[in-house]
Amino acid sequence: MDFNSHNDGVVLVAVGLVNALTPGERRGRPFPVPADLPAAATEGLRNGYPNHREVGESDAGELAEVAERLRVVFEAVSSGDVDTAAGQVNRLLDESRARPRLDRHDGEPWHLHFHGPGGTLAGDWAASCATGLAIVLGSEFHDRLGVCTAPHCDRVYVDVSRNGTRRFCSTPCQNRVKTAAFRARTRTP
Ligand SMILES: [Zn+2]
Repeated sequence: MDFNSHNDGVVLVAVGLVNALTPGERRGRPFPVPADLPAAATEGLRNGYPNHREVGESDAGELAEVAERLRVVFEAVSSGDVDTAAGQVNRLLDESRARPRLDRHDGEPWHLHFHGPGGTLAGDWAASCATGLAIVLGSEFHDRLGVCTAPHCDRVYVDVSRNGTRRFCSTPCQNRVKTAAFRARTRTP
């Protein structure tokens, strides 16, 4: 999947924010609200932009709220409800007042950014993530957002495989399920 490399990075940020900031379960274990919210928010942003600067306390709190709203999109697509996902993305586009603007920085060619009007880091990322997911949902790859299907895991992913067969958030979850299936097959009756 390659909408354009910039958008792929933005979608990875959406995935990273949901996985780092929304409580639930992760790879078989409970995943509480992170104790160090700025560190978790920074980790989420670096999922798409590895050199992203560290996030402060107030931006981190705002990003945690954004992440909760982004999670709704992944969960809706995962359960086959693209209508709900699209409605949620439209709400996020409205709230973040995402506006397109061509930018050029860090030696990159001109590319489209979608920022909010407030100029805050969290506001800009809310607008960017909403637009990134809108581009995915408006494309033939709309079913490529997902929630891990391994037991006791609700982390999310974007499936960039050629044939779109990804089901797990991570290799550890894939291995947990494989091992369980193998044990079930080899258990003596
Ligand atoms: Zn998982």
